[in-house]
Amino acid sequence: MKIHEYQAKEVLRKYGVTTPNGIACFSVEEAVKAARELDGKLWVVKAQIHAGGRGKGGGVKVAKSLDEVKQYAGRILGMRLVTHQTGPEGKIVKRLLIEEGAAIKKEFYIGMVVDRATQRVVLMASSEGGTEIEEVAARTPEKIHKTFIDPKSGLTDSDAEEVARKIGIPEAAIAQTRNFLKGLYKAFDETDASLAEINPLILTGDSRVLALDAKMNFDDNALYRHPEIAAMRDLDEEDPAEIEASVHDLSYISLDGNIGCLVNGAGLAMATMDITKLYGGLPANFLDVGGGASAEKVTEAFKIMLNNPKVKAVLVNIFGGIMKCDVIAEGIVAAVKQVHLNVPLVVRLEGTNVDVGKKILAESGLPIISANNMADAAQKVVAAANRT
Ligand code: GDP
Ligand code: MN
Repeated sequence: MKIHEYQAKEVLRKYGVTTPNGIACFSVEEAVKAARELDGKLWVVKAQIHAGGRGKGGGVKVAKSLDEVKQYAGRILGMRLVTHQTGPEGKIVKRLLIEEGAAIKKEFYIGMVVDRATQRVVLMASSEGGTEIEEVAARTPEKIHKTFIDPKSGLTDSDAEEVARKIGIPEAAIAQTRNFLKGLYKAFDETDASLAEINPLILTGDSRVLALDAKMNFDDNALYRHPEIAAMRDLDEEDPAEIEASVHDLSYISLDGNIGCLVNGAGLAMATMDITKLYGGLPANFLDVGGGASAEKVTEAFKIMLNNPKVKAVLVNIFGGIMKCDVIAEGIVAAVKQVHLNVPLVVRLEGTNVDVGKKILAESGLPIISANNMADAAQKVVAAANRT
C-alpha cells in the first residue's frame, strides 16, 4: 500500500526523522491558513499524489508570500498532474502539503527496500540527490552506496556514520545524520514497510539534515498489524477496477493492452500474459480468480474486465485441478449469459473432466472459441482482438 508524502513524514517524525514543518490541506483557504500558522517567509506548496516527479510536472512550488501561496495552491489543487510515474493520463490533485521553505545547501538521496537476494533491508545512499535515482544507477552506479542491514543488530552507529561520510555529509552533521538513518530504519522495520525513499535529504545552511521529500510503501500482508497505517489508505489514488476486484477477493492489476485475461492461479496468469505477448498481443490486465473459482467469482471477474473499454477480446485460461472442468465450464456459461458479452471469447480448459467441460461450452450455444492448448489459445485471442 502507498501513502502520501505528508503521511510518510508523520510516520517518520515519530521515529525522530527530521522533516520541515508542514500542514496537509484540502482547499486554497486551508492552504493560506496553514502558511500563516507556519513560521518563516518562505513556503512550499506541494501536490499530494501517489507518484514522484511532481516538481518537474509543476506540482511543487516555492512561494515567497502568502499571496503566492494562494496563487500556487489555486493552480495546483484540481490540476491534472502528469509525471513520469503517473502515465500520460496523469492524476488529479486533491490534497496539498504546505511546508516551511528550507534553504538547501546540498541534496542527497536515501532509499531503503527489501533485497530479496540477501533477504535483508538494503540502505542505498548517494550524493546525487534531487535527481532521478534510476539515472544515477544507470550512468554512475558507483555513486550509490549500499549497506545490507543485519536484522538482528539493526543499523549500527558505525554503519550509519560510514554511509553518511561516504556520501559527503560534513562532520558537523554526522551525528544528526546517524540518528536520522537509524530512525528511518526503525520506522521501516517496525511498520513492515517495503520501501522508504527520501529524495532529497537536504543539508541546510546551518548544517541540519532534513527529509525534504518522503515516500513510503507497505507490505499489504502485514497491514493487519498496523491499523493506523491502513487508515491512511487513499482510495482516490487507486485504480477503481483494482478496488472492485479486491472486494471480491480477486487479484487484478490493470494493464495497457486490449486482451482481457481470466486465469486461475498467479503462475498460470503470468504465463498466459507471457504467451499472449509472444504471439503479438497485449494483455489488458492480470487476473487470478484463485484456486476455487466459483461461478459468482468468474461472473464478477468478467464484469470488471468488460468494464474496461479497451478490451477487444477475452482469453479464459483455466486448469481444473481442485475445481473440475465441468464445474468451471458451467460457471463460464452462466457468467457470459449474465454479462452480455460483446467481444470474442477464447477458452482453454485443461484438467479433470476436461471433455465434459468442453462439451458444456460447445453445447451452450454461445459464440465461444475453444482452444486446445495455450499456444493455440494465445494465437486465437490475438487474431480475434485484431479483427474487432
Ligand atoms: P518530487 O518532484 O515529486 O520528487 O517532489 P520533491 O518533494 O522532491 O520536490 C521537488 C524539488 O522541489 C526538490 O528536489 C527541491 O529542489 C524543490 N523543493 C522542495 N521543497 C523545497 C524547499 O523547501 N526549498 C527549496 N528551495 N526547494 C524545495
Ligand atoms: Mn522527490
